Amino acid sequence: RIRVRGLEKSFDDRKVLRGIDFEAARGTSTVVVGPSGSGKTTVLRSLNALDVPDSGVIGIDDVEVDFAALPAGKAGRREAARLRAQSGMVFQSHNLFPHRTVLENVIEGPVVAQRRPREQAVADAKALLEQVGLGERADTYPFQLSGGQQQRVGIARALALEPRVVLFDEPTSALDPELVGEVLAVIKDLAAAGWTTVIVTHEIRFARQVADQVLFLDDGAIVERGSGDQVLADPREERTRRFLRRIL
Ligand code: ATP
Repeated sequence: RIRVRGLEKSFDDRKVLRGIDFEAARGTSTVVVGPSGSGKTTVLRSLNALDVPDSGVIGIDDVEVDFAALPAGKAGRREAARLRAQSGMVFQSHNLFPHRTVLENVIEGPVVAQRRPREQAVADAKALLEQVGLGERADTYPFQLSGGQQQRVGIARALALEPRVVLFDEPTSALDPELVGEVLAVIKDLAAAGWTTVIVTHEIRFARQVADQVLFLDDGAIVERGSGDQVLADPREERTRRFLRRIL
C-alpha cells in the first residue's frame, strides 16, 4: 500500500511538486500521465527516495518517511534507504552490465546488495526470466538481445529484489515502436499477477487498459484523478482534455 501526502519539491527556485496526495491499495496499478515537465518523474523518484522532497510524507507498507522531519546526515540517509528498499525502479533504458550474462545481471542485486544465497537467487532469477518471456536467454549477453528484450531483463532485475512496489519511468519511450508492445504486455501481466505498480507513461491506450487509477499531473499538481475510462476517455477538466487532444 502506498500513501503520499503533501509532497513538495523545488529545484533551485522552481517549484516542481506543489502538494501531491494520493493513495494506492496493494495489488493495484497507478498510472501517472501529464505534459512534459509536469513533475511525473519527480513523483516517481521521490517514491524511491532518489529525489528527496522538501516536505510531505511517503509511506510504502510499514515504512513511512516524513521528509520535513528527515534528520540530517547519516540518520536521514538511512531512513531514505529504508524507503528505497521498498520499491524497484525500471528506467527508460535498462543500464544492464554489458559484460555480464542476463542471469548474472538479474542475480546481482539479490546476491551482492541483499546477500541472499546464490543458489536461491539463481533459481528465483530463472523463474523471473521465464515470467518475462526470456527463459531461454539466461546465458546470453545484453548486446545479443533486442531493446525490448533488454528492457524485459531490466524488469526481471527490478523484481528480483522482491520490492513491495514496482515503479516504471516511461519504460517504453526509448524503444523502437515495434518493440513497445512486448514490454507493455509484460507490465500488464505483472499488474494482473498482483504486483503493486506506479507507471509513468505516454501510452494512453495502455494506460486505460492497465490502470486502476489514473493521476493527471500538470504543473506539479494532480489536476484530475479517477479510473482510466473516466480520466482518459471522459475527462472533467479542461486541462486534461487539452492534453489528450494534443497527444491523441
Ligand atoms: P517528462 O515527461 O518530460 O519526462 P516529467 O513530467 O517527468 O517530464 P520531471 O522530470 O519530473 O517532469 O521534471 C519536472 C521539472 O523539474 C522540469 O521542469 C525539470 O526540468 C525539473 N527538474 C527535474 N529534475 C531536476 C534536477 N535534478 N535539477 C533541476 N531541475 C530538475
